[in-house]
Amino acid sequence: MRMLLVALAAIQIVTFQSSPAEASEEFRFEYFPHIDVEVEFHNDWGAGRSGGRRHQGTDVFSSKMTPVVAVADGFVERVHKGPRSGYYVWIRHSAGYSTWYMHLNNDTPGTDDGRGGDEFAIAEGIEKGAFVQAGETIAWVGDSGNAEPTRPHTHFELHRNGRPINPYPYLADVWERELRLTELHQTLV
Ligand SMILES: [Zn+2]
Repeated sequence: MRMLLVALAAIQIVTFQSSPAEASEEFRFEYFPHIDVEVEFHNDWGAGRSGGRRHQGTDVFSSKMTPVVAVADGFVERVHKGPRSGYYVWIRHSAGYSTWYMHLNNDTPGTDDGRGGDEFAIAEGIEKGAFVQAGETIAWVGDSGNAEPTRPHTHFELHRNGRPINPYPYLADVWERELRLTELHQTLV
């Protein structure tokens, strides 16, 4: 915990837009999905994408190989590699909520070679049926699938009862709670 707090104190880049919707009371994130000193995200729900598609999540930008952690306790429903999503992990949580983490790393660390394989994409033991604790590392940030030409990021989705909902208010909520913890910590040391 101390390491996380120290890391958060060093955060330099944060991009927020005002949140259009409240996060539900019945489900909260206990952890922000990236453990990093520099994170960038904004409310990009519904933004246009190729082929007339709409963005159904929040893109969270960090440097490649940043640990991606489970935002809450849950069970791994699926680990897969698709042409558009690249490597992804799907976790089922309580109250009908699921989180999806896409474009996980596919490169040998320090390169953009697309040859990292499973070892540098998904953390050991993350497989269908596995229990994951909030804050547990499940994977690493990358640019797999159709994210190859973009900056490394996690396309993060939140689903409720099988339908995607805007994860931004949930991300902003946990981010602000982690920042408040950091400030509290600084007043105590
Ligand atoms: Zn995205």
